[in-house]
Amino acid sequence: MGSTITLHDLAKTYPNGQKAVRQLSLTVDDGEFLVLLGPSGCGKSTLLRMIAGLETISAGELHLDGRIANDLQPSERDIAMIFQSFALYPTMTTAQNIGFPLAVQKQDHAQVTAQVHSIAQTLGIDHLLNRIPSQLSGGERQRVAMGRAVVRRRSVFLMDEPLSSLDTRLRARLRTEMLAVTRSTGATTLYVTHDQAEAMALGDRVAVMRDGTLQQVDTPRNLYALPANAFVASFVGTPRINLLHGTVFAPAAGVLALNLGAQKLTLSYPLTHDHQMLRIVQGQPLLVGLRPEAIRIADKAHATASERAMTGVVEHTEFQGHEALLHLSLGGQRADVPNALPDHPTHSPARRTVTELLRKLRHHTGLPDRRTPPGGTQTPAQAPARKGIGELVIRDEPGTTHRRGQHIPLLIDIRNLLIFDERGERISPDPTRTPQL
Ligand code: ADP
Repeated sequence: MGSTITLHDLAKTYPNGQKAVRQLSLTVDDGEFLVLLGPSGCGKSTLLRMIAGLETISAGELHLDGRIANDLQPSERDIAMIFQSFALYPTMTTAQNIGFPLAVQKQDHAQVTAQVHSIAQTLGIDHLLNRIPSQLSGGERQRVAMGRAVVRRRSVFLMDEPLSSLDTRLRARLRTEMLAVTRSTGATTLYVTHDQAEAMALGDRVAVMRDGTLQQVDTPRNLYALPANAFVASFVGTPRINLLHGTVFAPAAGVLALNLGAQKLTLSYPLTHDHQMLRIVQGQPLLVGLRPEAIRIADKAHATASERAMTGVVEHTEFQGHEALLHLSLGGQRADVPNALPDHPTHSPARRTVTELLRKLRHHTGLPDRRTPPGGTQTPAQAPARKGIGELVIRDEPGTTHRRGQHIPLLIDIRNLLIFDERGERISPDPTRTPQL
């Protein structure tokens, strides 16, 4: 059993004018577990509720298993929705609560009992079948609720932050059980969360939303390694990606470097395809993204061919137990994720494709950039540096002895650079090429 969910330019404008979802297109494959991830208020619940039929669709088309479903009643959609807040019948036992949807369908008693047992077993609550809700813990009650939601086989599960009221350990355990249940039914699942770790752990693919728009939909691995833009890059992964203001600069023929304020990274010659492409954005303000694993502390081992030296000054050491995080300053400027609302007045046309963007960048290459002073290090577009916290966060041993004020030699792996334009769109690795992952 399964079903595809296809959204064609789906949009929701609430009566008060609030645009909660803007022309969003997405396909959830049959049997797929897809996670909708985004900050609070970006439109995730609205989208889910439109699919369930609990909210009207303002524009666009919803297809369920290939058939248009915009105007179907919720009961006609073969969908089960699971919320964070769940209600159980307080006087019924676990078995009665789980079996209720089958009992109202007047199914055979022996069959109902068998199904309830099977689901309770998968959820690890088969020893609690005779208890009433007040005799159960929060996590156990959530499992019963989940059992009740899945007992009537549906082709689609929509889950809206179903675990967010539980503590971290319980969440981690329950989410694996939930995966097991949905996989065992072969149902298609759309799961909403604002927690990137949960999204990455659960999703076959993850769809990242911002301000009612879809930013990227991809496997967790691709989202992390090849984020479409600086928003996705900074939303996914802990510790967060380091984003620095930078510019590309070509001091001599054949040499290309990235200026990061007081320090620079020379790119290897011969240049890789991705680094070659950076010539076209020479002198323009860029955002340079460095995941913590792209940086290591230079120890006695030699630098590899793709590593470049820099020096960081420790601003703060953060102990995490299994590792320590060092906050370092480089003499550069930390960048914020640019505001890239699709209909933001400074952002037009609404959504340029990456190909169009690259064409434009190529066009600009021949023109002198008046914003860049000789040497190409600073531009007025750069925000003032924030004091005291440094621009880089890197991983260190849990027993680190590095302390505030200490100068540390670093090695940056230039193969792992993620480079975004001023608006936050990724330009390197080249987004027009098929990922090698
Ligand atoms: P999320 O689930 O990502 O937190 P929601 O879909 O709940 O986001 O909300 C998206 C936006 O729509 C928010 O700005 C929210 O305030 C707004 N919104 C949600 N429900 C309504 C409503 N019934 N009327 C008006 N605005 C709403």
